[in-house]
Amino acid sequence: MNYTSTRDNTQAVSSAQAILRGISPEGGLYVPRQLPTLTLEDITALVPMDYRGRAAWVLSRFLTDFTAQELEDCIQGAYGGGKFDDGLPAPLTALEGEATLLELWHGPTCAFKDMALQLLPGLLTTSAAKCGDGRRTAILVATSGDTGKAALEGFKDIPGTRIQVFYPTDGVSAMQKRQMNTQSGGNVSVVAVRGNFDDCQTGVKAIFTSQELQEEVGERGYRFSSANSINWGRLVPQIVYYISAYCDLVAEERISLGDPINLCVPTGNFGNILAAYYARGMGLPVGKFICASNRNNVLTDFIRTGTYDRNRPFFATSSPSMDILVSSNLERLLYHLSGADSQLVTRLMEGLNIQGRYTLPATMTQALQRDFYGTFCDEEAGNATIRRVLEDYDYLVDPHTAVALHGARAYREATGDETPMVVVSTASPYKFAASVLEALEEPEISGDDFENLERLRVRTGTPVPQPLLALDTVPVRFTQECTTSQMAEATLDFLR
Ligand SMILES: *Cc1c(COP(=O)(O)O)cnc(C)c1O
Repeated sequence: MNYTSTRDNTQAVSSAQAILRGISPEGGLYVPRQLPTLTLEDITALVPMDYRGRAAWVLSRFLTDFTAQELEDCIQGAYGGGKFDDGLPAPLTALEGEATLLELWHGPTCAFKDMALQLLPGLLTTSAAKCGDGRRTAILVATSGDTGKAALEGFKDIPGTRIQVFYPTDGVSAMQKRQMNTQSGGNVSVVAVRGNFDDCQTGVKAIFTSQELQEEVGERGYRFSSANSINWGRLVPQIVYYISAYCDLVAEERISLGDPINLCVPTGNFGNILAAYYARGMGLPVGKFICASNRNNVLTDFIRTGTYDRNRPFFATSSPSMDILVSSNLERLLYHLSGADSQLVTRLMEGLNIQGRYTLPATMTQALQRDFYGTFCDEEAGNATIRRVLEDYDYLVDPHTAVALHGARAYREATGDETPMVVVSTASPYKFAASVLEALEEPEISGDDFENLERLRVRTGTPVPQPLLALDTVPVRFTQECTTSQMAEATLDFLR
């Protein structure tokens, strides 16, 4: 029973319960009471292992109620069997003199969400077998584009589960939309919502916490769970690749064992960067976390001032997966920074709900600023970064990764800190072909995404990922649209 809730630290659940429920009944998020430790000797032992071996080590420390065999099966299902290019889920690419990229987009949907969402179905069905009550699991997902497709791919035709995805109808790229609307599988549903990502996320959270809806779907033999990064089962697989990247840096002799690194993460919902924070909490040598945002720079302001204020304009940018004003995983960081003060977290979250803002006590702001540096970039600077990196390194990055590379540079210029920098590369540029072509100042960009894939390939000489090419001939299955107030109804229809 080593997990508790950010809003009620008297709760005590096992990791399987935390994963199965997704969110705590009073609306808090599940967090580990204590972090397992990672020593330099442990890292030495992990260096010669492959990704699956490292994953088994890390997951066994967090998911203590899973057997070694159960974890092995989940890991094999996720990262074995040729699902990732060359069987390497998280390779490094060095941009000499600038940063090392941790490429997390070699999975079936070409974004880093695959790293967790290929594993989550195994963790969830294993959890249901351990502590479920025989009901099937209804997964609801709010997506800013990449989570939706990755969750659909992960959960399609998994026995005992159904999955419904809500995405903002004008808030995702053409390729992201196509990836979702063509999804195969007998247990899937995809709905476009007239609103932005925050509306989708709020709607899904409301469904999860509605007693009435839970009872209604309960009578139909379902329980809700989440595949968003509010689910602990989404975060724990992400801790693995930070530790794995450090091991690879040691193996490649780019750093010596024990040297600190800095990590720069393109951030939206704060899940990915939080996983890095957990890795350091275990003992991974990390100096600073650079939190890179796009024009929706609510986190930059928060880190610089200690005030979180979502009352601001929302911008649709070329990095749509970061177009977020309410970063839900921040709640977990607040819990840890406050020394596990769930009453304080509850008050802060109430402030966010009611006034749309809150201010941290000064000691917490100081703790936040010790670990995190906030930076953001506008569209023009992001586009210039895509051009520059292609010119300097003959390497093509997507708009999200460009935001992070820009942030890493801004941090170094502002601080003079020359600690080796790992920048997290979160998506294939081909998921955002039209935006990338625009960044490269190509004229007259077509509305046809497959034409854009080909043009980008010819322009840059980089390979188009096979899963995207293959979509050209797959028919669209899903065209349903709804308003935010109709989301609950859409869910009930789906679970009929
Ligand atoms: C989801 C996503 C992000 C943001 O990650 P968070 O965990 O939400 O902070 C960044 N880039 C891409 C490509 C994504 O899909």
